[in-house]
Amino acid sequence: MLEVVDLKKSFGGREILHGLNLTFESGVYGLLGPNGAGKSTLMNIITGLLRQTSGQVLFHGVPASDRRSGFAAKLGYLPQQPGYYKNYTAAEFLRYLSALKGIRGKNEAQIAHLLEFVNLSENADQKLGTFSGGMLRRAGLAQALLGKPEVVILDEPTAGLDPLERIRLRNLLAEIAKGRTVIVATHIVPDVEFIANQVILMFDGQVRQMGKPEELAEAVRGQVWQVWTDYAGAERLSKRFATGNLFTEQDACVLRIVSETQPTPEAVPVQPTLEDAFLRESARR
Ligand code: ADP
Ligand code: MG
Repeated sequence: MLEVVDLKKSFGGREILHGLNLTFESGVYGLLGPNGAGKSTLMNIITGLLRQTSGQVLFHGVPASDRRSGFAAKLGYLPQQPGYYKNYTAAEFLRYLSALKGIRGKNEAQIAHLLEFVNLSENADQKLGTFSGGMLRRAGLAQALLGKPEVVILDEPTAGLDPLERIRLRNLLAEIAKGRTVIVATHIVPDVEFIANQVILMFDGQVRQMGKPEELAEAVRGQVWQVWTDYAGAERLSKRFATGNLFTEQDACVLRIVSETQPTPEAVPVQPTLEDAFLRESARR
């Protein structure tokens, strides 16, 4: 079990994380928040790359930074901007990181297995410098799984990927969840919508809400509306209301609006989603 207790972080006197309290058990946790919310800062503190200003990170009750916690050996991490060695092949990269992680002895079977899992078996001897963004991200996921970690942290795992690679990666994430803690930090709602057991909505260095994706969606039932209007109407409404998912149909604009009151007489209530819950919190800033 991983716990974050009253965690604060300041950079140059400016407080970025304002006293976070979180408990992670097994399952997939979606840490969802806009850019600048403090997700990466939190992940970097949990993984020990950054030091908190105050508060604690505990792994099974022992400070994670204490060697006795054994956390380093039980952690897999894919940072938001991982460094790669472009002259290494995928297999060499995994061998090198196995050594850094202190995995002893012959590790070839595990490396082959992980490459197969992320669908890179055929590229095992290809240099990382020739990989596409999606392939690199999958290689990054493979390294995060070396040594069968109990806690896997992935920071913006699908950022910059094309739609197909994005779906591929999400499917892999759903598969690695069994029996461990997976934390996915992202600003992209669909990254966590269908795979997270718990979603943590984080804004401005604070946790706003936490719950199952369907619970967070349910909390905005009756506040989500679909509105057909023209361009001028769309512009007017989007200034007044939390508006998402704008699309056009012939001459009309179709808006999705989150509002406690009916935004226009023609507005029709629709089934709420996690995206709507996120939109409502965004509008509360
Ligand atoms: P997120 O990952 O949610 O996009 P970050 O944790 O990267 O958010 O950043 C949160 C805030 O902290 C931002 O305002 C960012 O500018 C600031 N920040 C992050 N790292 C540093 C740093 N090393 N020095 C100063 N400010 C930082
Ligand atoms: Mg980030």
